[in-house]
Amino acid sequence: MTESTYDIAVVGAGAVGLSAALAFARDGYRTVLVGGLDVRRDGRTVALLNGSVRFLEALGVWPAVAAAAAPLETMRIVDDTGSLFRPPPAAFRAGEIGLDAFGWNIENVALVEALAEAARTREALTLVPEFATGFATDEAGAVLTLAEGGTIRAGLMVAADGRNSKLRQKAGIGTQTWSYPQSAMTVILAHDRDHRETSTEFHTRHGPFTLVPLPGRRSSLVWVASKAEAERLSGLDDAALALAVERQAQSHLGAMRVDGPRGLVPMSGLSVNRYSSRHLALVGEAAHVFPPIGAQGLNLGFRDVASLRDAVIDGGEEGHGPGSDETLARYQRGRDLDVRLRTAAVDGLNRTLLTGMIPTDFLRGAGLLALSNIGPLRRIVMREGVLPRVGVPRLMQGVSSG
Ligand SMILES: Cc1cc2nc3c(=O)[nH]c(=O)nc-3n(C[C@H](O)[C@H](O)[C@H](O)COP(=O)(O)OP(=O)(O)OC[C@H]3O[C@@H](n4cnc5c(N)ncnc54)[C@H](O)[C@@H]3O)c2cc1C
Repeated sequence: MTESTYDIAVVGAGAVGLSAALAFARDGYRTVLVGGLDVRRDGRTVALLNGSVRFLEALGVWPAVAAAAAPLETMRIVDDTGSLFRPPPAAFRAGEIGLDAFGWNIENVALVEALAEAARTREALTLVPEFATGFATDEAGAVLTLAEGGTIRAGLMVAADGRNSKLRQKAGIGTQTWSYPQSAMTVILAHDRDHRETSTEFHTRHGPFTLVPLPGRRSSLVWVASKAEAERLSGLDDAALALAVERQAQSHLGAMRVDGPRGLVPMSGLSVNRYSSRHLALVGEAAHVFPPIGAQGLNLGFRDVASLRDAVIDGGEEGHGPGSDETLARYQRGRDLDVRLRTAAVDGLNRTLLTGMIPTDFLRGAGLLALSNIGPLRRIVMREGVLPRVGVPRLMQGVSSG
């Protein structure tokens, strides 16, 4: 049985794990990334917000990512509740808050491929395309057991192994989970008319229906509905689904065609009791899961990585190793408030939407609409746009040498 030794081992080659491995190798740590690099096209797209773009720029992968992403320049909100008191559609432009775009929408598979391509050629980074089966710690660090029998030793293990994280379970870190009485049906569509870099969010009695631009005449759809309705929609054949989407979208993009795999995602969340344990840090969905509204999950995952990287660098300057208690306590402090605030924001947001499903026509008509009807994506993006620079990890501030 072989044992290899590294400064830092990252487990899980999703977008978050790949970015963590690239960030640590960039700083010169001997880094290993454990996990298969083959991603399945599952119809998932992610809207990358400002901080994430700066982070990807710092890692040197933004040009490749940008080539496969579409900018979100305008957000349109349409009240489709059928209420007598509904307001006219509202449009909000990135230029109004001094941005070229609110964010960039990309298929998760294209993002992961761009990151994987960079990882294959990055110095100081070793790729081990295997599954991790065991995790243990001793005085010197942590040891990972691989499916094919080898072991990997490192001062710091980074668990980027997704929502069912084995490392989190082995380390005994507790979780809370919650769910909502809805599911999201996701699919990628091609359409006859240009989207003009505009995402459109229809507010229905059953939840938001959001079309977000992709490059060309294509858009991704997240359609939140009751569990039964979402299941019915995802069971339709391509032609019937395309027609249902076109009708719900009031034909504003013309005829639709299903142009990729579909997903059916439960509206649920997960949070952890702590972000680290001895020689172990949790990042990405190993540390938090959000329902797929509000463009939060991956943006926060990148923020985890950039914060952990700051904690490792700053700890190192004080003579502490990457996986030392001091460094991990620093990481824990940095993540605690941020993740809690965003978890509460997304939870509150979905509950507002649920409340919005109860007929509240009178309140809408009375002018509370402006408060209650701001779209999830728009609200989070506005929040991200106005977030103070204080507490933002260095790789997200546009300091490429940071
Ligand atoms: C429909 C939908 C829409 C979304 N939209 C957005 C959005 O607009 N904006 C946004 O920011 N986020 C969005 N998200 C969330 C975002 O997709 C996730 O937060 C993100 O992809 C999670 O990345 P990750 O790397 O943490 O986990 P994953 O992508 O799950 O990657 C985990 C990796 O670890 C590997 N792995 C697991 N166990 C092991 C092991 N033992 N050994 C080795 N490897 C292992 C897995 O094979 C996988 O490759 C959306 C999610 C969904 C479902």
